[in-house]
Amino acid sequence: MEVKKVHIAKCHCGAVELELRLPNGLEDPRRCSCSMCRKRGAIAASVLLENLKITKGEENLTLYQFNTMTAKHYFCKTCGIYTHHQRRSNPHQFAINVACLEGINAYELEPVKIYDGIHHPKDSIDL
Ligand SMILES: [Zn+2]
Repeated sequence: MEVKKVHIAKCHCGAVELELRLPNGLEDPRRCSCSMCRKRGAIAASVLLENLKITKGEENLTLYQFNTMTAKHYFCKTCGIYTHHQRRSNPHQFAINVACLEGINAYELEPVKIYDGIHHPKDSIDL
């Protein structure tokens, strides 16, 4: 399994394509325990905002937001596959669905760490 410096990611139906610059390979691959990720189950890795380019099908992406409406979760409106989201914990980062990367078998990354998203730092600041 080879992670390229410039790697293509696609949803299942192929309507949406991302070009990712991954100078350090897959950074911080993890699952998260927040209410959303717990159901989604995807392994997400980190990329800086400027290292992700939507090269195809931007109009085919749907935005989902909840709770503080900060994070932006995108998925393909045709096949329903989650491709990436803009993080709430670090708005300078996108998290990408590792399983969408061409030629990458996300199962080979197991076991990945679980990020404690259910006790999110941004949820405790104003309590
Ligand atoms: Zn799709």
